[in-house]
Amino acid sequence: MKFGGTSVADVDRIRNVARHVKREVDAGHDVAVVVSAMAGKTNELVGWCREASPLHDAREYDVVVASGEQVTSGLLAITLQSLGVTARSWQGWQIPISTSNAHGAARILDIDGAELVRRFEERKEVAVISGFQGICRETGRITTLGRGGSDTSAVAVAAAIRADRCDIYTDVDGVYTTDPRVVPRARRMDKIAFEEMLELASLGAKVLQVRSVELGMVHNVRVFVRSSFDKPEDIDPHGMPPGTLICNEEEIVEQQVVTGIAFSKDEAQISIRRVQDKPGVAAAIFGPLAEANINVDMIVQNVSGDGATTDLTFTVPAADYERAAKVLADSRARIGYERLDGANDVAKVSVIGIGMRSHAGVAAQAFKALAERGINIRAITTSEIKFSLLIEAAYTELAVRTLHSLYGLDK
Ligand code: ADP
Ligand code: ASP
Ligand code: MG
Repeated sequence: MKFGGTSVADVDRIRNVARHVKREVDAGHDVAVVVSAMAGKTNELVGWCREASPLHDAREYDVVVASGEQVTSGLLAITLQSLGVTARSWQGWQIPISTSNAHGAARILDIDGAELVRRFEERKEVAVISGFQGICRETGRITTLGRGGSDTSAVAVAAAIRADRCDIYTDVDGVYTTDPRVVPRARRMDKIAFEEMLELASLGAKVLQVRSVELGMVHNVRVFVRSSFDKPEDIDPHGMPPGTLICNEEEIVEQQVVTGIAFSKDEAQISIRRVQDKPGVAAAIFGPLAEANINVDMIVQNVSGDGATTDLTFTVPAADYERAAKVLADSRARIGYERLDGANDVAKVSVIGIGMRSHAGVAAQAFKALAERGINIRAITTSEIKFSLLIEAAYTELAVRTLHSLYGLDK
């Protein structure tokens, strides 16, 4: 069972979580619980690090931001004990959840679940685990898994203890066809394939961290997204409550062409004007960006009209925009271009569906519908089961709503 920030936002909410856990324990299940920090806590901790020094040591950043989860794991253990449930808290370093040393975005390498399982068997003890954090074995230092990382902790623990299921309790009762906060008519899906969920998550749907979906897919963990706001006592622990199961494609009977729409405003666009059109130029541009660890996403290059120069446009994460512009300015002599143009007010809207593999013309419908709304498309990328459009950020909501009805997801 994993509970996100809003589900553990204060002691009252934590008591509600404890009742959910007790329900499962009373039904005879062995339970490991993963908790996030209280809502807003991690943002506050991140803010303090920036305030202390804008360019700070990533190892110390992890020490600070991992503390939010230490508080909630202890509080939940205390609350469970007060309800008569045997429980103890575990920090990432205690289990240990061992990770790489990429501080701030570490990857889980290994979790030894033996001790947790032994305690289930010997004393029916509930394990309350701090999400988001781990330890790098070589250096002995605390690490964190990147924002939203408690989802990944939960799926990884589920795999390590061979859980029957990993329930992600959050502030929505499942995965919707798009963010229900933006499109109130979005519908909850009963099931979604791992691959589609992977695309949805990586293209902006914050409901699950991308890495948690990857882990679920690799280790075949059944991940179930559900609401923590349901009254614990109203739920039949042996039945299936409302929610969304992330599962293998074969388990889904009724397959639609488009299953969901995701969007991200954390994008920036860079255009390089009148760049020389000759072999080696793309390497001269994208090489230095890669060395600077900047992820380039959408790339559009024109065929030059004069045979000499052309324009090249691409996107980078908004947070890396300034850095990318500097890298390109520094390599200007080597690349050879007239000027750089950039825009931070762009958004990427993506349409996802396994059915696109076997249906043509899905994207063309979107181009037409957006044109009718006067929305200009700046760049397009496509792959087997999705396409993404770069537009002006101000039109994001309109574009998402337009596409949502276009593909029949309102119904
Ligand atoms: P938690 O704190 O429980 O981890 P998050 O805020 O990380 O919760 O994720 C839940 C939020 O994800 C929802 O409140 C919702 O606004 C957002 N969201 C974005 N896209 C979707 C989607 N397709 N389906 C459901 N929720 C979505
Ligand atoms: N507390 C962390 C964050 O806000 C991890 C999580 O909530 O999943 O990113
Ligand atoms: Mg989250």
